[in-house]
Order: sequence, then C-alpha cells, then structure tokens
Amino acid sequence: MNIHQLGEFGLIDRIRQRLRVDSHVIRGIGDDTAVLPYTRGKYLLFTTDMLGEDIHFTRRMPAKAVGHKALACSISDIAAMGGLPSIALVSIGLPKHLPVCYVDELYQGMHRLAKQFGVSIVGGDTIKSDKLIINVALLGEVEKKYLVTRDKAKAGDWIFVTGPLGGSFLSGRHLTFTPAVAQARFLVRNFKPHAMIDISDGLAGDLNHILKASRAGVRLWEGQIPKNPGCTLQQVLSNGEDFELLFTLAALKAKKLLQWQQKTRQWFFYPIGQITANRKQLVRAKAFTHF
Ligand code: ADP
Ligand code: MG
Repeated sequence: MNIHQLGEFGLIDRIRQRLRVDSHVIRGIGDDTAVLPYTRGKYLLFTTDMLGEDIHFTRRMPAKAVGHKALACSISDIAAMGGLPSIALVSIGLPKHLPVCYVDELYQGMHRLAKQFGVSIVGGDTIKSDKLIINVALLGEVEKKYLVTRDKAKAGDWIFVTGPLGGSFLSGRHLTFTPAVAQARFLVRNFKPHAMIDISDGLAGDLNHILKASRAGVRLWEGQIPKNPGCTLQQVLSNGEDFELLFTLAALKAKKLLQWQQKTRQWFFYPIGQITANRKQLVRAKAFTHF
C-alpha cells in the first residue's frame, strides 16, 4: 500500500497506533495541539505546522506574507484550544540560490506577528532543500478551566464559525489572516465552548473531525453558512486555509451569544447548524487532504 491509498489521516492514525505515549501526556495526536502538564492551574500546549513551496505558497507571493502565514497557522491551532501562544522554534529548508533578502523578509513577516501575539522565536534549524520549506513549532499555555478540545460536542449544541469561509487561497486571505486568539479567549472566558477546531482543511473535513471525536452527528443550516464573495457552498465545504474557528455551544449559551453580539457588535459569530445524536450524519463533501 502506498501513502496515497492510505490517505493523510489514515497515515496519522497508523503513526498514532504505533506510538507509546508517556502517561503524563494529557493529549497526544488527535487535536489541534498536544496538551501537557505545566503548572497547577495551566496546561502547556505544543503544536507544529509545516509550509511547503508550491503547496501552501509559491515563490511569487511576498516573502513577508509567507512568514506571517507560517507563524499564523500555528498560533491558530493554539487559539483552537483556548490558549495563548508563547515560544516558537522556526526551521527552514532553503534552495542554495535563494536571495538572502527573501529570508530577511520571511523573518520580518514572522517577527511582526510574533510581536503582536507576544511570541518569542528562540531557535530553529536550517537545511538545504530543492524547494522552500518552513516549519514552526509553537508552545502556548491555557488555564485548565479554559481548555477546549474536539471531543466534547454534545447533541443539541449549536455550531458557530468566526467568519466567512471559502476561496482563501484564491483571494490571498491565507497569507494575511489574523489568528482568532482574541475571539477564542473571549469565548472560553464567557461562553464555555464544548468543542473547538480551526478550519484549515475546509469546513467539511474539520467539522467531521469534531463529529468523529465527539461521536456525534450534525444538521447544517446550509443557507446560514457565511461564504466569502463569489464562493459556492461546495467551495466553502472543501476549500482549506480559512483559519476561522469552528466551535459548539450549549443551546442556552448560543442564544446568549447571539444576544450579546446584537448588543455589542464587537465580533460576529455565525450559527451554522446543530450537533445531533445520529453518528451517521457526517458532512458529505470532499475535504482537503495532502494525498
Ligand atoms: P492541524 O490541521 O490542526 O494542524 P493536522 O490535521 O495537521 O492538525 O494533524 C492532526 C493531528 O495529527 C494533530 O494532533 C497532529 O499533531 C497529528 N500529526 C500530524 N502529522 C503527524 C505526524 N507526522 N506524526 C505524528 N502526529 C502527527
Ligand atoms: Mg488545527
């Protein structure tokens, strides 16, 4: 069997089954970040994301924006757990004829976002590579009471997203997005989401991750799903790289959130459906996978 036949998530599952994880690890493979013991009141979060040239970006895109994206993807995973990012390692694979100013700009983009989110870049690694590769490993922290995972969505919960979806790669939004840390922190402090994930592989794929982990089903309110201009429902379901958050709230809290946003208009959270008890009701659309 080759990797294409197994698929990205089949492969990750196979890796997971063959690993023995120490018992002090609170969560290993299977959520937006790993969760590790830290202090009495907090967990440590740990995540990594890799960007490959001609997969996640092209050489024609501004290097600063590529640097921004490389860090923003990992910050988004920390946000999806309810946490705050803290410390990063940045590793790069570089073609030997790449102009040095490209690397300068890459780091300018990363550094700017790092400053904005209080992230320190403390090391990394550099190798030669035919195509550009950028990997960011990021630590974060979250108060134990605010941790949100993928596996606690409950039948009756309302499903929300933090913004319009689809067409991120074509519009260039994947290079400029601000990770939704502020929204996530607001939600964990005030509304206790049951489950949360960041939408990196498309609404269908990432919602299905929550459904599988939570052993639940879904009823989508298709007409209410916010779409970026010019996007079809199909694109919204299967395009990746939106980096909006998807979360579920108990129905009572959902109604309170809608009232709150009508009053304040500080952020807009879009209700797009409801969690059901029928485990067969997954979202039937092709999700983005690498293989
Ligand atoms: P995300 O889209 O949130 O960054 P991924 O879909 O990349 O997450 O990964 C899903 C889960 O699988 C995560 O918990 C991640 O840490 C884990 N994972 C992905 N690739 C590997 C790998 N090569 N080895 C071990 N774990 C992996
Ligand atoms: Mg994620």
